[in-house]
Amino acid sequence: MSDIFYADKGVRVYPRSIAKIASLAGLFRLQNNEFVDKNGRIDMYRVLEKHALYNVLEDDLLPSNIEACSSQDGTILISETTFNNLCDGQHRARFTIAHEFGHIMLNHFSEISLNRGSEGEIKTFCNSEWQANEFAGWLLVDPLDLKTNAALPIPLLSMKYGASNECIERRLSKLDKVL
Ligand SMILES: [Zn+2]
Repeated sequence: MSDIFYADKGVRVYPRSIAKIASLAGLFRLQNNEFVDKNGRIDMYRVLEKHALYNVLEDDLLPSNIEACSSQDGTILISETTFNNLCDGQHRARFTIAHEFGHIMLNHFSEISLNRGSEGEIKTFCNSEWQANEFAGWLLVDPLDLKTNAALPIPLLSMKYGASNECIERRLSKLDKVL
């Protein structure tokens, strides 16, 4: 199981800024606009089907706090509960899958070797988990669309994009860094 990627604290990868990560997520949304509905909500189940290899595992085959993780060959392993929640459009499951997808799109597996021999604290911009979370946030929420609709109440934006209130608040707080 040594090639399974579920490092909570992240590993060191090449530095990427919020703007860089947002532009990669935005490019992916553009190239896959058939999966984005008129509200700007991306269908993460269809993204998973088209762009990733994945396996759904019984919940107890993954460590108890792990909803999904990725193996080094790029396969996403998903707990049965998380997969069912994804199919139901649950916000947390959508973010979880977008996060794992981020590891693949950001090429983290080929960069893990950067971690060898390096000690000490990992700077935020070089942290694999931080980068995957940023990618997930901007994959679920398009910054330009969010700016246009920023006056709407958070719960409405949450329904519109299929992302949690917390995710929307974070994207709003970072808008000026990507636009
Ligand atoms: Zn991760």
